[in-house]
Amino acid sequence: MKPFDVVIVGAGPAGSTAATALARRGRDVVLLDRAEFPRDKVCGDGIPPGTVGILNDLGMAESLRAAEFHAVDSLRLVSARGRDWRLRFRPKRTGADFFIAPRLRFDELLRSHALASGASFQVAQARAPVIENGCVVGVRADVGGVEREIRARIVIGADGATSAIARGLLPEKPPEAHRAVAIRAYLDDFDSLPRTIEFHFGARFAPGYAWVFPIGERLANVGVIVRTDRFKRRGVPIEALLREFIEGADLRVRGARFESLRDVATWQLPLAARVRVPRAFDGALLAGDAARLVDALTGEGIHNAVVSGKLAGEAADRALASGDVSRAALSADYENRLEAEVARLVRRSYRCQKYITAYPSVLEAMFVLAGAFRGRITRWLDRVSTDFEVVE
Ligand SMILES: Cc1cc2nc3c(=O)[nH]c(=O)nc-3n(C[C@H](O)[C@H](O)[C@H](O)COP(=O)(O)OP(=O)(O)OC[C@H]3O[C@@H](n4cnc5c(N)ncnc54)[C@H](O)[C@@H]3O)c2cc1C
Repeated sequence: MKPFDVVIVGAGPAGSTAATALARRGRDVVLLDRAEFPRDKVCGDGIPPGTVGILNDLGMAESLRAAEFHAVDSLRLVSARGRDWRLRFRPKRTGADFFIAPRLRFDELLRSHALASGASFQVAQARAPVIENGCVVGVRADVGGVEREIRARIVIGADGATSAIARGLLPEKPPEAHRAVAIRAYLDDFDSLPRTIEFHFGARFAPGYAWVFPIGERLANVGVIVRTDRFKRRGVPIEALLREFIEGADLRVRGARFESLRDVATWQLPLAARVRVPRAFDGALLAGDAARLVDALTGEGIHNAVVSGKLAGEAADRALASGDVSRAALSADYENRLEAEVARLVRRSYRCQKYITAYPSVLEAMFVLAGAFRGRITRWLDRVSTDFEVVE
């Protein structure tokens, strides 16, 4: 069988975006996923406007509008001692909203768009990259219980936090301080929910947080995220942390009940840390969570998944055009552009997490300062934010 131009493993935001970018350039591209779609992905479902802007540019404006995802317009931060900080925001630059979009629907929209753009899809569980003379030439995968080799000129590993492709290419797992564990659930018995995303900090979650992301008037995605090293050191089960949060005064008075939680599930996040990880190889690229691109402060990974998917698709297309799929060529294109687009923010987030949110007393002091210098901080946030106009 003739090799594909590109095999992409994983049809999440990174993989589907890469597939769309390549298919729109006329490349013969196949998306593999171990799951039948639509499928759930354990997530907070928060999709920032910058991401929506990129997807709009890739031809998704109409389908995203038609999906009518729930838009939010404000942020609430609550400190461990109950200090409450709120601000409103409006999208700038892209004009797109900040959505809370259940991944069951959002990811299917992205995958369908990749297929409509000309990519094909196959249910297959990748086991490992196929490497010949040091160069990746395909993927070994379980297709309907049969082990097969699917060959391609370039492989893009976009198979998430437990990526089989990354495991085959990167020698080491990230250390526990560069990973997080999170639990997510849906809760639909809130009395009423404003269009506000909420982050609640607490000594037991540090340097993580608990969240409430509204999806409707009474329905929210709720959860807790904790850095893996701290989580293991404390030894408190993550379900217990979620119960503590739901049964705390703030949520209880709004009607939330632990017994009403549904679709409770845990998953892990590979945080983008200071260390530069190789993301280009001879014949292969890594994108999204497989490339360890989750924001270490906020736990957001969808934006970097979409950015890296788009850049990986474009880099693969240029490498195919030049006939040079070597690590040197792919790195000079993909890794350098990724560095330019996401690195500054990733490093800032990593430093904030390491030196501020990891220490509840330092974070509490930041809340005090934020209260005292509210006007100045709001103006600063407005200036540094590329996606939001901070309005109060
Ligand atoms: C609880 C939780 C809350 C989060 N909340 C947010 C949030 O609100 N906003 C945000 O921006 N980010 C959030 N994140 C992070 C976000 O979910 C990820 O960063 C994002 O999904 C990464 O996209 P991806 O395409 O790289 O990988 P994924 O979305 O994980 O997609 C990977 C795909 O690969 C497939 N796959 C895996 N292994 C194989 C294999 N061996 N063979 C074939 N297919 C395979 C999977 O089935 C999946 O479809 C959260 C994460 C967690 C765990």
